[in-house]
Amino acid sequence: MRIAIGQLWQESNTFNPLPTTWADFEAFGHFEGPAIIDQFKDTNELGGFIQTLRAFPTPVEIIGLQRFAAWPSGPIDAPTFRLLIDRMLGSLSQAGRIDGVLLALHGALVADGEPDVSGHLLARVRELVGPSVPIVATLDLHANMTARLVAAADVLTLYHTAPHIDVMNTGKRAAQALRRILFEGAKPVTAFRKLPMVVPAERANTQDPNSISFGIRKTLEGWERNPFVLSAGIATVQPWLDIPEMGTSVLVTCAGPEWRNWAEQSCSELARAVWQRRREYLPEIVDPTWAVAQAHACSDGLTVISDSADATTSGSTGDSTVLLREMLKYTWPRPAIVPIVDPAVVAEADRLGVGATFAATMGGTRNRRDFQPITLDVTVNSIFDAKFILSGHLGDKLPIDIGRSAVLTHGNVHIVATSRSGPHFAPQLFQTAGLDPFTASLLIAKSPCGFRAAYADQSKQIFVARAPGCAPSDFWNYPFIRIPRPLWPWDEMGDL
Ligand SMILES: [Zn+2]
Repeated sequence: MRIAIGQLWQESNTFNPLPTTWADFEAFGHFEGPAIIDQFKDTNELGGFIQTLRAFPTPVEIIGLQRFAAWPSGPIDAPTFRLLIDRMLGSLSQAGRIDGVLLALHGALVADGEPDVSGHLLARVRELVGPSVPIVATLDLHANMTARLVAAADVLTLYHTAPHIDVMNTGKRAAQALRRILFEGAKPVTAFRKLPMVVPAERANTQDPNSISFGIRKTLEGWERNPFVLSAGIATVQPWLDIPEMGTSVLVTCAGPEWRNWAEQSCSELARAVWQRRREYLPEIVDPTWAVAQAHACSDGLTVISDSADATTSGSTGDSTVLLREMLKYTWPRPAIVPIVDPAVVAEADRLGVGATFAATMGGTRNRRDFQPITLDVTVNSIFDAKFILSGHLGDKLPIDIGRSAVLTHGNVHIVATSRSGPHFAPQLFQTAGLDPFTASLLIAKSPCGFRAAYADQSKQIFVARAPGCAPSDFWNYPFIRIPRPLWPWDEMGDL
């Protein structure tokens, strides 16, 4: 038996002015052919595929296609989009006869001229392999599922968690669905509902019993334990996408037409329940001046402030100076840590060397629309390569390399400046920089919700700041022109 596997993964943000290019995919690690199996057998969705395929009832020849992944950022430029699709399809057509396809996708990947890259790819793969070869794909919980995407796949398997701590497990569940089709004669039937709503990410914490998302996760996991269910998921969407067909979706796939009614009914019930409770997603966001003052007033323990509007995990640029300006107003008893993406200031620090003091101008270079640069005297505390293994939100042993980086200090404010964007919340980033995020006074996390997996139990207080950026929590107050209307919370609506 021969199964082809591959990945095309990025969460796009159409408010980020920086296009994602081929260089971004190369920087994150492009692999093809057998190298995919060597590199990713223990990592994320691909690792889940590989481990499960190796336990199939008959030996499987795993054909590595392409692994394309880039850190969340602006939409992919048109030449890169064509290159990615052509190379993925080229590998698949060269693979010869195959018995199934497993793809790790995101579902909120946008390219210049193509708002639904995942749907485009799956439709092209379907064209190539024909109707009888099963296609199973994984999606992020922040996917924007479209009718084309759903129609092209036999099964779509979604992350159940946010923070995303089940990435590899999602790969395993997808491969199990493929096993059911290939060995048990499952004939997938899918119920799919699109809801005219987009919800903030901040309170959609599936691990918090007080969040609406907790009960939804439990329901979906319960459904998937039924032997006749191949997949059940909700995609609440990455909100910062100004694209057609934008909205939350619920999907239930059962193992044969005899369960079609169950699938349709369950899907409708969940969609209705989520719609009725949609206001529970509205976040509490606070003024950054107040939040930093609260952190300073807290004499012991860690305060974490989510700079969610500039969350690099949401595809923002990571060069905000808004919270840094507030932090500079205080003398901190213990380190106050803030990450920033600024390759120029890293290069200058690298040139001057550890121990040098200089007037550094930083921030506001990637997103000039929202941020102003700041100039302050800093000491180069350390220079390092930001290479580490991400485990926790978004990663199961995921190698990260965001380039040459520096820790710049001004008093006890520690600025972790990196050359590229990445998980600017992850304890592993700060630890690689030589800092202990858990004993700091204050940590700025560039993440709306996922950071809680690492910090919820380790911090004294957590705030989400209301600040400018490409990923504001109150996104419906910003101009969107392509989304379908009416759409909540832009528009108030009654029962559906
Ligand atoms: Zn996500």
